[in-house]
Amino acid sequence: MDEGDVPEDCTRCAACCFSDSPRHARVTGDDHRRLGEDAEQLVEWIGNSAFMRLERVTPDVQKCIALAIDPATATFACSIYETRPQVCRDLERASSGCRGELSTKSDRAKRALVVLRGP
Ligand code: SF4
Ligand code: SF4
Repeated sequence: MDEGDVPEDCTRCAACCFSDSPRHARVTGDDHRRLGEDAEQLVEWIGNSAFMRLERVTPDVQKCIALAIDPATATFACSIYETRPQVCRDLERASSGCRGELSTKSDRAKRALVVLRGP
């Protein structure tokens, strides 16, 4: 995947905010404190570890609960951008991590938009 295959605008992509894995975005102790009173509704605990909760958009597509989707403009935004977990802060556009997300999940946002826009 070369640079031309990486979206220029993350608000048009959001591949990294979709996942099948409940462990997709680790919430550390510092992250949890930063989320403050929102943490309880945003976080899922698996044993002693916390992760961003997932939300089903279609029968086969799940997204981070904090991802806001605007079907009218086909844009995506992190609703907790200022307090998002460190793992999300560390993922730079066009990095190897970003490219890995794109290689496996670049179609999910489009599939979610199709369902949210309706017939
Ligand atoms: S970091 Fe990469 S995968 Fe995530 S929204 Fe931006 S371009 Fe898409
Ligand atoms: S917290 Fe924000 S940036 Fe991180 S996965 Fe969820 S929506 Fe995406």
